[in-house]
Amino acid sequence: MLIGTHLNPDGDALGSALAMSHYLDQIGVQNEVVCHHVPPRNLRFLPGVDRLRQQPKEEKHDLGILLDLDSSDRLGNTAPYFAPCERVIVIDHHVPHEAPGDLRVIDTSAPATAVILYRLLRDLDAAITPAMATCLLAGIVTDTGSFRFRNTTPESMVISAALLDLGGDLTAVSEEIFQSKSLASVRLLGRMLEAMRLESNDQIAWSALTIQDFEEAHARDEDTEGFVNEMLFITSVQISALLREPKAGKIRCSLRSRGEFDVASVARAFGGGGHVNAAGCTFDLPMAEAQSLLVEKLKTCLGSS
Ligand code: 5GP
Ligand code: MN
Repeated sequence: MLIGTHLNPDGDALGSALAMSHYLDQIGVQNEVVCHHVPPRNLRFLPGVDRLRQQPKEEKHDLGILLDLDSSDRLGNTAPYFAPCERVIVIDHHVPHEAPGDLRVIDTSAPATAVILYRLLRDLDAAITPAMATCLLAGIVTDTGSFRFRNTTPESMVISAALLDLGGDLTAVSEEIFQSKSLASVRLLGRMLEAMRLESNDQIAWSALTIQDFEEAHARDEDTEGFVNEMLFITSVQISALLREPKAGKIRCSLRSRGEFDVASVARAFGGGGHVNAAGCTFDLPMAEAQSLLVEKLKTCLGSS
């Protein structure tokens, strides 16, 4: 079996993919895990992370399993490896964007793919090892922002308690994912906050990091993890956005919102996607053009929600 997940993988993507791989090992099913990107620095502690490769060793797998994935373009360079699979299963919690796969296990009310995977493993009477528990916890803790985001459900806390009981290492998850920032990352955060702009009575906050900002801070895109949330923490702010150009010519955009403000619709307007309160997209435009298009859409979103 070939396991895949989305590019720029986060704790839910990698945690779910690795937990699935551990489970398949356990029941004697040969498997591989692929991802377009190598794991970011703060996820290299995940048990089994070394099995992640950018291309599979085997030429053909009968079955593909995609976790935390809502559209096949998010597979990046790993997409062709799933084409020869006879069947592809998708386990995901995003609002369906393009609905890839033959068998789809989707629950958009689940805060994390790891929650859906836990339910499946429990129903299969799988023996959840401490390694699997740590991977699944990483998924839930990441996608609920350590149980602070609105998507946090009683079930996700009950499952997390069960995972702690099973030997999941919450201390490692919290410290590695949230408290192991590089100096470059903190310096870049300073630049982002300095460049922050406010619109619509301080209800929209946005900022942009240029290729020069990245170069001067010796930072990479993975160093911007969590930055967009910092702007949303301002009392008046309902929608925050961060544009960044870690490599010349490609602009990534992260969007966050409170309450009913639907930033997934903003992201979709530019070919991206995500959840109501957390979404993203990519612009193939110069920074100034991306900025004005985005800010205009954000104002519309604020006005229409
Ligand atoms: P982030 O801002 O953390 O990169 O992404 C926030 C959310 O939006 C994630 O759940 C992610 O899956 C989704 N997302 C980010 N970028 C894209 C994109 O380009 N396309 C789609 N479909 N979803 C995205
Ligand atoms: Mn997720």
